[in-house]
Amino acid sequence: MLERIVHWIGGKEYDSGESRLGPVYDPALGTQRASVLLADAAEVDVAVAAAASAYPGWRDTSIAKRQSVLFAFRELLNARKNELAEIITNEHGKVLSDALGEIVRGQEVLEFALSFPEVLKGDYTYNVSTGVDVHSLRQPIGVAAIISPFNFPAMVPMWFLPIALAAGNSVVLKPSEKDPSAAIWLARLLAEAGLPDGVFNVLHGDRAAVDGLLEHPGVTSVSFVGSTPIARYIYQTAAANGKRVQALGGAKNHMLVLPDADLDLVADAAVNAGFGSAGERCMAISVVVAVEPVGDALIAKVTERMSKLRTGDGRRGCDMGPLISREHRDKVASYIDVAAQDGATVVVDGRDVIADGAPEGFWLGPTLLDRVPTTSRAYTDEIFGPVLSVVRVNSYDEGLALVNSGAFGNGAAIFTHDGGAARRFQAEVEVGMVGINVPIPVPVAYHSFGGWKESMFGDAKAYGVDSFRFFTREKAITTRWLDPSHGGINLGFPQNV
Ligand code: NAD
Repeated sequence: MLERIVHWIGGKEYDSGESRLGPVYDPALGTQRASVLLADAAEVDVAVAAAASAYPGWRDTSIAKRQSVLFAFRELLNARKNELAEIITNEHGKVLSDALGEIVRGQEVLEFALSFPEVLKGDYTYNVSTGVDVHSLRQPIGVAAIISPFNFPAMVPMWFLPIALAAGNSVVLKPSEKDPSAAIWLARLLAEAGLPDGVFNVLHGDRAAVDGLLEHPGVTSVSFVGSTPIARYIYQTAAANGKRVQALGGAKNHMLVLPDADLDLVADAAVNAGFGSAGERCMAISVVVAVEPVGDALIAKVTERMSKLRTGDGRRGCDMGPLISREHRDKVASYIDVAAQDGATVVVDGRDVIADGAPEGFWLGPTLLDRVPTTSRAYTDEIFGPVLSVVRVNSYDEGLALVNSGAFGNGAAIFTHDGGAARRFQAEVEVGMVGINVPIPVPVAYHSFGGWKESMFGDAKAYGVDSFRFFTREKAITTRWLDPSHGGINLGFPQNV
């Protein structure tokens, strides 16, 4: 009998019995392991109503109490993160060490969120006019919807939820229907930490649930992470419905390698950033831009490292796991043919991999493509799999122009020993996150995460101080304590004297 994964609403499991169901797979086995409820409009109403009714109580809960709940959550998460890592590996397929890594990066945001009494402190100005003071408050905004992708089932929700909760909002999380169990585990842990019922809810579903949240008058903000076409849709629809919205989209991250770079460091970085989590990371490196003459030497070093990677079941200590689904594996694999037909050289073909796992697992081994034409869909599309492309150019300027010509602007890296070139690159490259001899420049929690161009719609990035601004609104208060000497009638516009 398959496990049935149900919603978490009002502090407990919720199953109306009416929902459609979606399959949840174990990608390393290639078999269905559970079914997940897919919410309809009525269930969206129930979840938003639970969050809306819990909101005033949580908003008015003292800072000390909110902080103690989140601190308890941090302690529980830290003690039990191995349980969560197993859940992630079972449903996503990424290897256990990588699953643990995403939890640690999510925990980092929680730890940053615990500084909220300092970050949310208002300003105070004494005597702006005679006897008049002004101060500001940052107040929560209401019910925050979070819609997350499959590739980081714990970390991406944790980019938003600790900050939304710390600021005094209630939350409805709509996780990916492909790996929904991590969200439920987090909900149980928050309840155990003492979060009042209804402050954090998990609503499972697909487009119907998302549309329900986007249109629901009770939802005040939408934080979305996923592919670019959906991010654009979310941004436009949520904004049209009067909601505050941040929508992070897809990526095609480049790594520019100058001739003076340390090619062993570069090859290590390219393999780690290209094939970690089977390339299913929005900050994965998918294109290496080699400034000649380094192309041949770099291809040799990368190929040599790739030959040692073990693809297989993430529970067996392999380097790289399966892809999320059979359809996605087939789609990623189809780009190898696209690239070859367009004139690229297939240096390593991941379709030949012999995986350390069940034969029906969604396997595709690390793949290396050289001289990929920049007109090929294999170059322009986000592939989101273990396919690393190499493009060769003749100068820094040609490489920079290529990096900047793409539709996406999430991250980019430069590898060089030339400080002047690196300094120019950080100013000239048109992306939101830049690595200098760092291939996956995901900022720490007290900076903010987000791309440019088609990689992000909206103004407020994820986490960092930006995120506290997103999840609060400011109120400016002008105060005068009565002083008889300032009475009298004056219909003029207030002036400070
Ligand atoms: P996705 O866009 O398919 O799904 C993301 C979320 O949107 C899921 O919760 C899904 O249920 C929902 N959704 C799917 N189709 C929808 C539709 N038609 N209408 C409304 N909602 C819909 O993305 P994914 O495949 O789960 O995740 C991979 C993508 O996410 C990649 O493009 C990756 O680059 C991107 N991503 C971006 C970042 C970032 O920070 N920029 C981080 C992680 C992942």
